[in-house]
Amino acid sequence: MSGPATVLRAVLRHGPVARSTIARLTGLSPAGVTRHCGSLADRGLVAETDGPVSRNGMGRPHVPVDIDTARHTVCGVHIAHAQCTLAVLDLRGNVLAQQQIPHGGTRPEEVLGTVVEALPRFLGDRRPLAMGVAAGGWVDTDNGVIVEHASLGWKNVPVKEILSTTGIPVHADSHARALVQAEQLFGQVRASESVLHLFVGNVVDAAIVTGGSTHRGPRSAAGDVAHLPLGDPDVRCGRGHQGCFEATVSDDAWARRTAGVSMRELLGAKPDPFIERARMVGRAAALLYDVVNPEVLVVTEAGVIHFPECLQALRDEIAARSHLCAAPEHTVLSSSFGGDEVLAVAGGAVALGVLYADPLSHAVG
Ligand SMILES: [Zn+2]
Repeated sequence: MSGPATVLRAVLRHGPVARSTIARLTGLSPAGVTRHCGSLADRGLVAETDGPVSRNGMGRPHVPVDIDTARHTVCGVHIAHAQCTLAVLDLRGNVLAQQQIPHGGTRPEEVLGTVVEALPRFLGDRRPLAMGVAAGGWVDTDNGVIVEHASLGWKNVPVKEILSTTGIPVHADSHARALVQAEQLFGQVRASESVLHLFVGNVVDAAIVTGGSTHRGPRSAAGDVAHLPLGDPDVRCGRGHQGCFEATVSDDAWARRTAGVSMRELLGAKPDPFIERARMVGRAAALLYDVVNPEVLVVTEAGVIHFPECLQALRDEIAARSHLCAAPEHTVLSSSFGGDEVLAVAGGAVALGVLYADPLSHAVG
């Protein structure tokens, strides 16, 4: 990580924080920290705070610095099966505004055209530094292409190129990787070197962090768990396989299983229909846990987010099946982000991840 990125991450984690403390925490020289803080402040990413000023033994004042959340924002676009979520986030990942936009159709130009049309009014006077686009399925980050989105039937959609017509720099990633990045930046797994994230919505996919970095693989295809044969053997997926994981536990499949009641209605009622899903997710999670052996497993799934009973059922199932997961109450966690904001965070986190990785190339003063 570059010096400015190291300093910005330290300020994010520890701010408001004195420059001398940043030097101690990061091992950078005090002069280097002061120089990087200056560059970051010039770009409006950090600012000196009005908070209490501490003094060292020589009586020199230490004015703490913190992330400047008042100046810049990023924008997020999450593309789901039936709607897009537009969002504005500050640099600490707080969702300042969000709006759901139902798809006008399912073709990429219809869906993305609606987004391009809606953005100016949604953003108003805001000029976000960057736009993050998150979607389920296979997203090629380097090229900004949604290679495959099964539930929308999309193949090779150049989402970056299409949304760049808004004039905002665009970055794209899978929502599973976007959310694990958000967990590392703003969530409860900040200090973890290895994290496994399992996302269960209408699309089911995973993200793997090792050595503090997200594993992508060639063309960013890593994390495809949709067709693992860990679902109900009586269910067939769109490719005609029996017992596929996504075809069994996805939101749509689960709503059909529970007499056609919508997910929203289900969440307003009792946890019972979700407990069985949490167990099925736990079966797959236990297997993935033993393959990856992460410090922490994070599961983003509506029932687990809403009902403590579902988190318990998930942990019980993983404890029963995994060889390695000895203390699921510490190592199996629900998403840090509530059900109402998780998709908004996913989109914004794609842009924030790029910003925090290389702050000086992606921000202007
Ligand atoms: Zn399948």
